[in-house]
Amino acid sequence: MRKLVVATKNPGKAKEVAEILVGLPYEVVSLAQYSDAPDVEETGTTFVENAVLKAKAYAEFTGELTLADDSGLEVDALDGAPGVYSSRFAPTDAERISKLLDVMKDVPDERRTARFCCAVAIAEPGGEARTCEGKVEGTIAHEPRGDNGFGYDPIFQVTSLNKRMAELESSEKNAISHRGKALEQAKKLLLGTQCDG
Ligand code: IMP
Repeated sequence: MRKLVVATKNPGKAKEVAEILVGLPYEVVSLAQYSDAPDVEETGTTFVENAVLKAKAYAEFTGELTLADDSGLEVDALDGAPGVYSSRFAPTDAERISKLLDVMKDVPDERRTARFCCAVAIAEPGGEARTCEGKVEGTIAHEPRGDNGFGYDPIFQVTSLNKRMAELESSEKNAISHRGKALEQAKKLLLGTQCDG
């Protein structure tokens, strides 16, 4: 079976991606299997640009078909920040959450709208990348709740379910999440049908 490298060093993400891609006619491997994999600098200004940068760089490095994602949280009251800087907003998940809650402490409920965005890029070594995107709408809560997921999940209240992202089982999260939606499109693309955005 052909290999598909999932280019992430984030174990929370790698687990979600592997769960969603299950059943594809590919041997899905992660960057954890390439101990000497370099870090790729995320110099893009959009999620799509960063996903493409990573997919192309790791396809070149591994010599295999490679899928990369770039994702993050856009908060309307912060003009879309932290956005592509979501993982660089503070050093750890706990610090990122407390920093965001602190920055948002005077923002009233009706202005706490936000969304998780995900871009997925798939590249062959030496080839162009194909891309798909997904989003999920929510609001930034006033305090964390829930033990599942990773990153900002405990403070992201999913509008359609009225629950924190971190209160969802992984299958529930994958069904509605930005990454789940983008990867469903990527799956079609990998199966040879057209990606529609
Ligand atoms: P990336 O590895 O550059 O894509 O960084 C994405 C960052 O955005 C993560 O480190 C998290 O802080 C945040 N993020 C992305 N997706 C999610 C998610 O599904 N839940 C919570 N936080 C997320």
